[in-house]
Amino acid sequence: MSQRRKVESDPTFRSANQPPPFEDHNLYLGDRALQEAAVREGAAWAHARLSAWGERLGSAATLALAARANRYAPELRTHDRFGERIDEVTFDPAWHELMAMAMHAGEHCAPWSDVRPGAQVARATAYLMHAEVENGTQCPLTMTYAAVPLLRRCAAALPAIAEAWLPRMLAREYDPRSLPIAEKTSALIGMGMTERQGGSDVRANVTRAERTADGSYRLTGHKWFLSAPMCDAHLVLARADGGLSCFLLPRMLAEGTRNAVRILRLKDKLGNRSNASSEVEFDGAVAWLLGDEGRGVPVIIEMVQHTRLDCAIGSAGILRGAVSRALHHATHRRAFGKRLVEQPLMQNVLADLILEVEASTALALRLARAFEAAAPESERALARLATPAIKYWVCKRAPTVVAEAMEVLGGNGYVEDFELPRFYREAPLNSIWEGSGNVMCLDVLRAARREPGAVDALVAELDEVRGSNPRLDRHAAMLSAMLRDAATGERDGRRIAGAMAVGLAAALLIRHAPSTIADAFCASRLGEEASSALGTLPATIDLPAIIEPRLAR
Ligand SMILES: Cc1cc2nc3c(=O)[nH]c(=O)nc-3n(C[C@H](O)[C@H](O)[C@H](O)COP(=O)(O)OP(=O)(O)OC[C@H]3O[C@@H](n4cnc5c(N)ncnc54)[C@H](O)[C@@H]3O)c2cc1C
Repeated sequence: MSQRRKVESDPTFRSANQPPPFEDHNLYLGDRALQEAAVREGAAWAHARLSAWGERLGSAATLALAARANRYAPELRTHDRFGERIDEVTFDPAWHELMAMAMHAGEHCAPWSDVRPGAQVARATAYLMHAEVENGTQCPLTMTYAAVPLLRRCAAALPAIAEAWLPRMLAREYDPRSLPIAEKTSALIGMGMTERQGGSDVRANVTRAERTADGSYRLTGHKWFLSAPMCDAHLVLARADGGLSCFLLPRMLAEGTRNAVRILRLKDKLGNRSNASSEVEFDGAVAWLLGDEGRGVPVIIEMVQHTRLDCAIGSAGILRGAVSRALHHATHRRAFGKRLVEQPLMQNVLADLILEVEASTALALRLARAFEAAAPESERALARLATPAIKYWVCKRAPTVVAEAMEVLGGNGYVEDFELPRFYREAPLNSIWEGSGNVMCLDVLRAARREPGAVDALVAELDEVRGSNPRLDRHAAMLSAMLRDAATGERDGRRIAGAMAVGLAAALLIRHAPSTIADAFCASRLGEEASSALGTLPATIDLPAIIEPRLAR
């Protein structure tokens, strides 16, 4: 017997203090905070389907697909063997399988095709669990979901376009074929705003759009970032005679030829590797105007608001995915005579990580409720202000939390097999795209200034718990003083947006979470002693009381 065989069969080595694989967990039934949030925000009716989706997502088979889709990244084929341009991106079969699963679950369309109270929250819950497993596939799902209300709004002016596209955007059968829209069973939509000379400041866009006799336009220019280039169409901004305008740009034309969109190269990205992000050039590409010329930003902003909601939900899922793995490891791994989860300093780290998950989950699903079809005006106002604030804060927490969760696994945390490296690479992205941190904070200031109803809705939310926690009372007073202070300017944007998100999270936890969680959150996140390092909860906090209910049975 070789030396290696002897080591493998020796029981001392086999029980080498390594945890069992983290797999075959139901991501819904195993997550009290998520279940409770889904129920209280209106999606109790979705229990059976969310349990089934949580079971499927957490299975070993799905986790293997996620790993595979990211290991074998998409490849660009610009030409066929005869030298003809094809501009095709090929994906590993694992990508297609994950896409088919998520579309079947309705992540790209459910609240629009099955309108009922709680539909947005049910879909947000499904999407959050998906983010615990794989993130690249979420990009085209989000953009399609976000494009539906925009296209519906423009349907009256473009009935033929709406009739061809909308039913397919709502269809659940994944169809990756490159065909004209009339021949497809379903359609996915992407978005192209960012150009080389500026992304946040889309006013700098130079791509030109010229109107033709049949009412369509021809686009000439480029996009510096265009994710999911295999989508059936992209909503793009381009400059028409009347100014910056929004267009629907199909990939294939009705006659079966490719539109004049050349994929120049795929970005070699830090993370989100399963998803293709490209640089493209338009050479007289056919497109259809959505809304009026010169109204491109107001037209696309509704779509952007929904993608920002998804960034917050997605980051909450990334946090939860990383922290679940940390808890799992600490439960099984022993060091210095005890399980890690029993070591007081590790308990402080784990409890602090759990607070982050509880807060981001509560915020994400509360925000989703504000997007419900039947939401009253006050909810719409709240969404206007809270979306950029929560997107900023939850996405900003992700890299810090994932890094700390990674460290809980020690050396294993740095190894691909344990998934934390993928979470870590993924973690900064939601903060960068769909409005980077500063841009979100400036948007918060803009909304607060222009829409007093939004500030009233936020204050009403904080008032619900006034008197419950002195720290939150002081925090709310400080926040409203800052909002009223004429000297508050752009430089204070992060302080204000962060204070809004933390204040909202504290209010939600006070109302709905166990008091151990709410007290610990307020004690550690509000007030001057709040520490930026995780694992620094004060001595008054009952750490096991926070951790114990979160451990997998
Ligand atoms: C993987 C990936 C995929 C992407 N996919 C797409 C896609 O499909 N479609 C698409 O349109 N775009 C896409 N993007 C682009 C992304 O949305 C932009 O990169 C982002 O909006 C920032 O724009 P920018 O890169 O031009 O940076 P800039 O706009 O130059 O901003 C750089 C920094 O300056 C900050 N900043 C900007 N203005 C101000 C200000 N007034 N005050 C203070 N700070 C400011 C920003 O917050 C940011 O931190 C993708 C990006 C990535 C990384």
